[in-house]
Amino acid sequence: MATNTLSTVIAHRAPQGAFSNEPFTGFHHPDMARAMREALRKVADQLGHEYDLVIGGQRLRTQEKIVSINPARPAQVVGVHQQAGVQHVELAMQAALAAFESWRQVPVQERVSLLLNAAEMIRERKFEFCAWLTYEVGKNWAEADADVGETIDFLEFYAREALRLAAATTPIQYPGERNELHYIPLGAGAVISPWNFPFAIMAGMTAAAIVCGNTVVLKPSTFAPTMAAKFLDVLEAAGMPPGVVNLCQGGAEFGSALVEHPQVRFISFTGSKKVGLEIHERAARTAPGQKWIKRTVLEMGGKDAIIVDSDCDLDAAVTGVVASAFGFNGQKCSACSRAIVDDRIYDVFLQKLQDKVERLQVGDPVENADMGPVVNDLAHNKVLQYIEIGKSEGRLLHGGQAIAAPDGGYYLAPTVFADVAPTARIAQEEIFGPVLAVIRSHSFEESLAIANNTEYGLTGAVYSASRDRLELARHSFHVGNLYFNRKCTGAMVGAHPFGGFNMSGTDSKAGGPEYLLLFTQAKSVAEKLG
Ligand code: NAD
Repeated sequence: MATNTLSTVIAHRAPQGAFSNEPFTGFHHPDMARAMREALRKVADQLGHEYDLVIGGQRLRTQEKIVSINPARPAQVVGVHQQAGVQHVELAMQAALAAFESWRQVPVQERVSLLLNAAEMIRERKFEFCAWLTYEVGKNWAEADADVGETIDFLEFYAREALRLAAATTPIQYPGERNELHYIPLGAGAVISPWNFPFAIMAGMTAAAIVCGNTVVLKPSTFAPTMAAKFLDVLEAAGMPPGVVNLCQGGAEFGSALVEHPQVRFISFTGSKKVGLEIHERAARTAPGQKWIKRTVLEMGGKDAIIVDSDCDLDAAVTGVVASAFGFNGQKCSACSRAIVDDRIYDVFLQKLQDKVERLQVGDPVENADMGPVVNDLAHNKVLQYIEIGKSEGRLLHGGQAIAAPDGGYYLAPTVFADVAPTARIAQEEIFGPVLAVIRSHSFEESLAIANNTEYGLTGAVYSASRDRLELARHSFHVGNLYFNRKCTGAMVGAHPFGGFNMSGTDSKAGGPEYLLLFTQAKSVAEKLG
């Protein structure tokens, strides 16, 4: 039977104890720094290779190509990828549907082993994956390490969650019956991922779907295709049977057609509000003969704020704001793009902020600069347009321009605008770049009202020494991920289940105890006893 063939290729592995987060690499240690430099050198020799589509385990080439470039040196090609077109949707879906028939029957321990084997392989080659991230999207060493660490965490966490779910039962046993609850997979689904966490989010969404017994057509971002190709290699080496994940690099046209396919059972998407809403609408339309309501899991943008209260530890607040606003150049859904600062400390906050931002070095992420380039020319132009808007909406405190580089990298100066009105465009719209708006507030209640006054609701933080005010924020700051006296980026799998309110998405809480439920349906079985 097909089930046996599938289950024998995955080497058995059980979780090693309770879940704990992958430790960060201490690059200040000379051995770690040396290992990273070595990996960067090795990966540099592999840049420019061509990668295939992988459908049902078969390698495919296309006429059209997607060329991934290094944002720090746009002339340097990181990888050449095939570009799936609308005609590949049917092929990929049929491969996923065929594999589903056997993968759904593979024992959960086997599916868990696949994730754990993959986690171990990535752990063993951590520096190498960090180096790929540095070249493909411009992450410095710590940012790349966080992305790879989170990838491992998702694999380890969802492996344990799948075992927990498989052991679930009904809350009570009805007298005279045996009652069971089985979380069964949904079917063949689409995973559509963004470029900014091109390893962790792409792998996390995929792993969650397949560990529950679903199969997937994976459509990664066209700006980070190499990370997905590397992940597929890992899954195959870890024993994944053909067709369980079908890698289709492609753009919006392929993505739209995939979402519209009548047999796609679910769409797991992370990306912008605009595309998320479009997918939501498209998925809601039923095609003739369609037998189910497509499930959409949509994680979208943010306009995240940090409230700085008058009595807080100001140095800690400034450090947190700078890390949240300028880490990976503000290209995180959780990035702080609004600092809402109490009038009583406003001027001293600005002074300390300026001092700290001035010390940020912008440069090649290969050399581990604090800030590298933004991801591509589109992002560069878009952020520069917002900077121009900011010049008429606030007082430019720092930055405000592109930084020329000999290799033509897409560098921007960290930019801070002070005295921004809460309703200004740069205080309302997601910029997704290194631009921070500082807003003056006259009371803590006003700070909360300003923080809540956008269409988003993803992350937020409060720096305050007042227990009462923190309690007020706990109840009234309407975001999916709220932090007190720490930065608003850097969610840890398991500790900070991640997902936002309002236009930030469907609040899926990746890395949390309910996430796998989104990829299953619960079947209740009751048997009358003797
Ligand atoms: P994007 O919306 O442009 O693209 C995301 C994915 O959707 C890509 O794979 C893209 O090719 C695909 N896509 C584009 N048009 C499509 C269409 N019409 N149909 C189907 N697929 C389509 O987003 P991005 O620029 O890759 O990522 C940045 C955005 O993602 C930001 O808004 C950021 O806030 C958000 N984000 C959110 C989270 C979260 O957890 N909430 C995490 C990371 C990033």
